[in-house]
Amino acid sequence: MRENNKVNRRALFSGASAQSTYAALPLLETVDVLIVGGGPAGIGAALAAKQQGASCLLVESFSFFGGSAVWGMGRPLEQMRPDGKPRSAIHEMVIEQLMAQGDQSVRIENDRLYPQVHFLKAALADALDAANCPYLVHVQAVDACVQGSRVSGVVLATKQGLMRVDAKVVVDCTGEASVACFAGAKMQEAPDAVPMNLGAAYVDLDLAAVKEGDVAEAIDQAWEKNPLLPETVTGLKQVANGTFAYMEHDGVSNFDSLDPKQRSEAECRSRRQIVQMERAMRASSAEALQDIDICEGAPQLSVSMPRRLKGLYTLTPKDVSGHTMFSDTVAVRFDVSGRCGIPFRTMLPELDGLIVAGAGISAANDAVSMAAGNCIATGHAAGLAAALSAKKGIMPRKLHVAEVQDALRKDGVDLNV
Ligand SMILES: Cc1cc2nc3c(=O)[nH]c(=O)nc-3n(C[C@H](O)[C@H](O)[C@H](O)COP(=O)(O)OP(=O)(O)OC[C@H]3O[C@@H](n4cnc5c(N)ncnc54)[C@H](O)[C@@H]3O)c2cc1C
Repeated sequence: MRENNKVNRRALFSGASAQSTYAALPLLETVDVLIVGGGPAGIGAALAAKQQGASCLLVESFSFFGGSAVWGMGRPLEQMRPDGKPRSAIHEMVIEQLMAQGDQSVRIENDRLYPQVHFLKAALADALDAANCPYLVHVQAVDACVQGSRVSGVVLATKQGLMRVDAKVVVDCTGEASVACFAGAKMQEAPDAVPMNLGAAYVDLDLAAVKEGDVAEAIDQAWEKNPLLPETVTGLKQVANGTFAYMEHDGVSNFDSLDPKQRSEAECRSRRQIVQMERAMRASSAEALQDIDICEGAPQLSVSMPRRLKGLYTLTPKDVSGHTMFSDTVAVRFDVSGRCGIPFRTMLPELDGLIVAGAGISAANDAVSMAAGNCIATGHAAGLAAALSAKKGIMPRKLHVAEVQDALRKDGVDLNV
């Protein structure tokens, strides 16, 4: 098992000296709610906080929004409409903006949205603009500003150097609880190596003529010349309603996604892997695959078990299988195996001024709730709670959860499991 906060940054910088350096950094903005990370959770948090009237800023290190939902290159956003029914006003805002991009942008099947990722990127920016939520891209949170036991903002790496954003509440939607980790919050133990997958989209194939098993057979026949091929390939699937396809495969494993050297090796190996997959399909006996071409690789690997907070409560596999409801349930975890409540405490560290949402919440390895729809739901709850906390001038841990729950119900959230 990997210790996730092996280097405790607060102890390392012994608080005062680092924080006085940060106080001298140019102040970019002061807001009620700062949302770090613009994946599904961050979009949910930003839309919800803005809807509550808070002044907000969403910061994202890539040049677009969507996070892992975009890095999948067309794989579905799951649990967006569980049982085919609307899940919340925030989920519906995202769906509406995506559908407004036109027929090519999305295919909806039951709870799932199969997006064309370029339309998804545009739709998410449109959703933020429609809500008047300010955002910055190409800025990366590289440390937390901490005063005593309270997170008061973050340090951003920008193209002009380091800058500071101050906030009443920071919502960590980095997908790997980075701000919480930087602030010195406790982290879950994680496996030493986790599976990672580089999404890729392919053109110039006759998708209708590709038979089940063709891709797996092509991969099987090509091992000798292409040693980096993945062990398992689920196959090629249509991107939205378009003429190209994304590939589902099990990527690479045996790497620590947070170790800089191992992560670099995994990223480079995966680039070579998707090229070898294309080569294998072109060399196959299936005619429908012989002209196939990669049209795009994802900007980075998707990581299956990201770093997560060890919060005031940790969701367990028993909670999931027992469909447990909690008095502080603020979101529901929908899954093929059923549903259970997600308590507010899974989003709260033993620090003030900070809420974690999305893939980084406090859950045991076997209880991680990764579906994009669930991440939007925890983002929604976190953004709304952050706005209430800022409005009332009290820390998130001191909020009356019933007020958060009432406000969520007004947004169309059903908190029963
Ligand atoms: C291999 C794989 C397959 C999956 N398949 C599916 C599927 O089929 N359907 C489904 O619904 N879900 C799937 N998921 C899960 C889903 O994609 C993620 O769980 C979900 O996107 C997580 O949302 P998030 O917003 O918490 O984090 P992310 O999507 O990871 O978004 C985090 C965002 O924060 C940004 N960020 C990170 N650090 C910083 C920083 N320091 N400063 C500024 N910005 C930062 C990132 O660039 C990113 O945009 C899959 C995941 C994996 C790994």
